[in-house]
Amino acid sequence: SEIILSVQDLHVSFKTFGGEVQALRGVSFDLFKGETLAIVGESGCGKSVTANTIMGLLPQPAARIHKGKVQFKERDLTRLSKSEMRQVQGVDISMIFQDPMTALNPTIKIGEQLTEGLRTHKKISKTEAKKKAIELLNFVGIPNPEERMKQYPHQFSGGMRQRIVIAIALICEPELLIADEPTTALDVTIQAQILELFEEIQERTGVSIILITHDLGVVAKIADRIAVMYAGKVIEIGEKREVFYSPQHPYTKGLLSSVPRLDLKEEELQPIEGTPPDLFAPPVGCPFTARCPFAMEVCERVYPATTSLSITHQVDCWLQDERAKKLFGAYV
Ligand code: SF4
Ligand code: MG
Repeated sequence: SEIILSVQDLHVSFKTFGGEVQALRGVSFDLFKGETLAIVGESGCGKSVTANTIMGLLPQPAARIHKGKVQFKERDLTRLSKSEMRQVQGVDISMIFQDPMTALNPTIKIGEQLTEGLRTHKKISKTEAKKKAIELLNFVGIPNPEERMKQYPHQFSGGMRQRIVIAIALICEPELLIADEPTTALDVTIQAQILELFEEIQERTGVSIILITHDLGVVAKIADRIAVMYAGKVIEIGEKREVFYSPQHPYTKGLLSSVPRLDLKEEELQPIEGTPPDLFAPPVGCPFTARCPFAMEVCERVYPATTSLSITHQVDCWLQDERAKKLFGAYV
């Protein structure tokens, strides 16, 4: 099927008081039309940075894109000016964040917040915009939309607010929706409803979705493909059944063997013994070496090449690479 977004060898760093953090160290993946790609990994692995890079939301001047491309249709988004990027944001690509309150303006009625994008980008009449907003609120499950358009964000529950944020994200009919932990701030029953809504949205609009999450339950439910990130790299990618039922990277195996616990926050989720490497001075070899029960001498010295296990399933691990033995002698 058709590729709508292609991220190629993306390198992004951040200047901090402590030095320069190498947040993305060569991230590549394609996104197909109409699919949901889940990006998973522990806090700090680079999943949100990837999303923010695509969306043109990296903090300036701290962040720098050293290398790589974000090809969206005919354009490399990393090369667009701020004003060109504003024509893309919310129109071609929309983003949904974890906390709906940060996305909504507390002092503006939600009807106005809903129609604002339409009025500025699509230049349609007020009546048309209102009609569309009501339709969309109805679709995302807000009862009495016409009345509720006149209300402010604080007059809605957390789950309802996230539905409104989703409606705002959809109003200009984007081709790509990026959702960064969209259900993390919500309670479990609301989470399930919002996930169902994502499925309905995709069925109805054919939008492509990048879903960023640390919650493997979410992934199991709605992803078509899964990209696993670790220390600023995609270390395994494949169709859901491949990554979920036949994971090949030791890190992915570790992630999956730890039962997701709903009472833990992302920061606390520590499924695998040890911590990820320091990205101020990232290791030259496989970044999982220090935590990997299968680590070999070569792992520490050289980053593994990407091995294709099928047309759709790729992994960066020396265990899958025939050359490990030949080039570096016996496993240790
Ligand atoms: Fe473990 Fe080596 Fe594979 Fe890295 S490359 S995951 S250290 S076996
Ligand atoms: Mg994050």
